[in-house]
Amino acid sequence: MPAEIKLFACLKDNYGVLVHDPASGATAAIDVPEAAPVEAALQATGWKLTDILVTHHHGDHTGGIAELKQKYKCRVVAPQAEAGKIPLVDETVREGDTVSVGTLSANVIETPGHTSGHITFWFHGDKLAFAGDTLFSIGCGRVIEGTPEMMWTSLKKLRDLPGDTRVYCGHEYTLANIKFAQTIEPDNVALKARAAQAAKQIADGAWTIPTTIDEEKAANPFLRADVAVVAASIGMAGKPAAEVFTEIRARKNKF
Ligand code: ZN
Ligand code: FE
Repeated sequence: MPAEIKLFACLKDNYGVLVHDPASGATAAIDVPEAAPVEAALQATGWKLTDILVTHHHGDHTGGIAELKQKYKCRVVAPQAEAGKIPLVDETVREGDTVSVGTLSANVIETPGHTSGHITFWFHGDKLAFAGDTLFSIGCGRVIEGTPEMMWTSLKKLRDLPGDTRVYCGHEYTLANIKFAQTIEPDNVALKARAAQAAKQIADGAWTIPTTIDEEKAANPFLRADVAVVAASIGMAGKPAAEVFTEIRARKNKF
């Protein structure tokens, strides 16, 4: 049976998300910015929280763990490299591990850069990726603990997932990301279409995610550092992709 998803807002601009396995009744929260909206989502769906899967140690992804674990006795799964910075971890995972949520199964993909131990959960059966603060729609996370090269390598791993993979990310930053992306590729047709779609989604009070790998490949400059037209448009024709990526990320930081 396909996974069911409940997406909701947390804090200022974070997303919370529940993944529910109808076959077993298991329900995982992927990151828990704060407890109250997670509980509201559980109440709205009637689902019972069994697992919390953590992408990275930042407080806006882990703030709800203590309260939710106390209430639901759920299992907390976290990246091995960051377990010491995350409260109440039951199980640590790394590249190549799988995490079961009832009958659903997620592969752990290490995607460092934003933090040095950041992971992405990929539910291959349903083609769902939970990318935390690594890949955003038309953007990517700030490189805080890693290097830009590391982030570029991580993004390429996500780019290699099947094109119809639905991607959920940690924040609603899409409109701001599009504004910046248009400074890099003003003539990108897919980006123009995404700009119109996202503006309508926000005006309608809807979410701009999930996005898909194919949509991001076509319009997200951070996945396009090895596309010749992108390098050329920032005056770096022929330069290595990691250098082009580094320059795009630096420009976004100043934007
Ligand atoms: Zn973060
Ligand atoms: Fe975050």
